[in-house]
Amino acid sequence: MEHQDHKFDCMICGSPLVYTAASEKKKCAICGNVYETNCTCEQGHYICDKCHSKPGLVVITAEALRTESTNPIEIAMKMMDDEHIHMHGPEHHYLVPAALLAAYYNAGGTIGNWSLADSLGTAQLRASQVPGGVCGSWGCCGAAVGAGIFASIIASATSMSDEAWGLCNRITAKCLDIIGKNGGPRCCKRDSFLAIGVMVNYVAEHFGITMGKPSNIVCHYHQYNRACRQEKCPFFPR
Ligand SMILES: [Zn+2]
Ligand SMILES: [Zn+2]
Repeated sequence: MEHQDHKFDCMICGSPLVYTAASEKKKCAICGNVYETNCTCEQGHYICDKCHSKPGLVVITAEALRTESTNPIEIAMKMMDDEHIHMHGPEHHYLVPAALLAAYYNAGGTIGNWSLADSLGTAQLRASQVPGGVCGSWGCCGAAVGAGIFASIIASATSMSDEAWGLCNRITAKCLDIIGKNGGPRCCKRDSFLAIGVMVNYVAEHFGITMGKPSNIVCHYHQYNRACRQEKCPFFPR
């Protein structure tokens, strides 16, 4: 099926998205598979998470492998600037750990004998299990979960770990706390910047690896976001 890949709103027709409290079974307008969803566009189009994220995931991995930056915000913005990364969407659940992993390795961090490509593969596998819209339906923003995935990977944590288990759950909680305090509606850019900011400090404190962090993050995506909090967002240009 031919479709125009709109950077924001509906990928098919560009109409605003509508979220409902209850979900129902809908057929994906691209792959035809049927899933439970609470999000369609005003014209009734539904795009499944896989079809929404697929081109973006390749872009994210490629940039993570290419970049020499130690600044995960800078890396994240380079990824976000690509036309295949939508204003909002579950690709951000992978974008957050991928930008962090690239910066971590570039800053001298290591994870056992894993290469960056190994750890990106694991991050993508895990992040792809986190559906779109969980910030609203699980009370748990996917950018924070992405940061938790990064934390678990660099700490080599498992369900049976002792200290690492506690550390990773606490750092995800910290991301959620800051994201929650900023208030909704959701913004995948704002929430990604907030989660990455928390992780830069966490990695310096617990792993002794200093990643770069801009002193002032200025968002240039707000024009694509109908629900931007504008002056109430810490990254809105002033
Ligand atoms: Zn549509
Ligand atoms: Zn699909």
